[in-house]
Amino acid sequence: EDHTRRKSSIWPTTDGGNDPRKLGDASTQEDVSVGVEGLIGNTPLIKLRSLSDALGCEILAKAEFLNGAGNSPKDRVALSMITHAEEDGILQPDRGDTIYEGTVGSTGISLASVARARGYKAHICMPSDVATEKSDLLLKLGATVERVLPASIVDQNQFVNTARRRAQEHTDDPNKPGRGFFADQFENTANYLAHQETTGPEIYAQTDGKLDAFVAGAGTGGTLSGVALALKPLLPDMRVVLADPQGSGLYNKIKYGVMFSPTEAEGTRRRHQVDSIVEGIGINRLTANMNAGLHLVDDAVKVTDEQALKMARWLVEKEGLFVGASSAVNCVAAARTARELGRGKRVVTILCDSGARHLSKFWKQAGDVGGKEEEFSLEEILDGSGQ
Ligand code: PMP
Repeated sequence: EDHTRRKSSIWPTTDGGNDPRKLGDASTQEDVSVGVEGLIGNTPLIKLRSLSDALGCEILAKAEFLNGAGNSPKDRVALSMITHAEEDGILQPDRGDTIYEGTVGSTGISLASVARARGYKAHICMPSDVATEKSDLLLKLGATVERVLPASIVDQNQFVNTARRRAQEHTDDPNKPGRGFFADQFENTANYLAHQETTGPEIYAQTDGKLDAFVAGAGTGGTLSGVALALKPLLPDMRVVLADPQGSGLYNKIKYGVMFSPTEAEGTRRRHQVDSIVEGIGINRLTANMNAGLHLVDDAVKVTDEQALKMARWLVEKEGLFVGASSAVNCVAAARTARELGRGKRVVTILCDSGARHLSKFWKQAGDVGGKEEEFSLEEILDGSGQ
């Protein structure tokens, strides 16, 4: 059989037909992205068949790991923060301006990429306990990486405080070119605006406005707030649900109106780190980006590390999807929400990044899937054991 001449009918076309794409005709002017910025946004929505079939619902996931050159929703945020700073006259390309940020990874990677594309440098402060593949990637992406105290230790040398101070030191130093700009993803509202202006409207368009719930975790809260602010006015009956890893204080805030229960108040307040192997989501304080949409969050689902680890393996086994920890948390919470809403409902969630960024931490614990298929039921994942 001559494989080179075999007529393929497997490639989907935009009109929903099954005709093969005419590959030679694809490069019209409109298909050309100008720089990495052109690759940001307009990510596809994937129906997760295994979860949808098992629950009799539709679980749709926005493939945010396909964003830009930074491969996470933070590409949208980086572009938004940099563009707003340029419009405010704070950043100017090619005069030596440097962008400073405190981050556990994704935001730094996206900032490093968009910064270089726009004529800036990036200096990223991250806790020393973050998975090393993220700091390695940042160095290759041309950023300066400063690893500081573990995330659990909150003082003036904590990663966000260090980034803020470094930006000021840069601006104050007459021997350094340009200025230092502290991007400040937690408090900078250009973060949630990116999601209100792009992620939310994209979800609305991709679902034709037919969705019953939006489920996502919160690190800065930008995604949850921004999407909620975009969709709630159009879909007042749609539920906004927080997916929260173990140890995060947000769950209690949504469920009971207080960040900490009175009995654990003191101990938890001092322990700022969310005690979970899940990086990027879960937080024990309210940020400007979380506050922006907090009033629109209807419910919260708590997800244990064990549930996230099992879901991550499930997604590989059943979907061929190798995702990071926060994506797995989102999928557990989305499936639980769908099950609660009942058959026939449609729930949208986010796949934030690839498992490749979590090899040395989350996936080390999750283990290899190859040759070691484990048969656990969806109920076992959703209801957890020993929870
Ligand atoms: N997943 C990962 C891997 C992240 O790094 C982050 C952001 N820190 C999130 C999810 C949460 O997004 P947001 O900051 O918009 O709440």
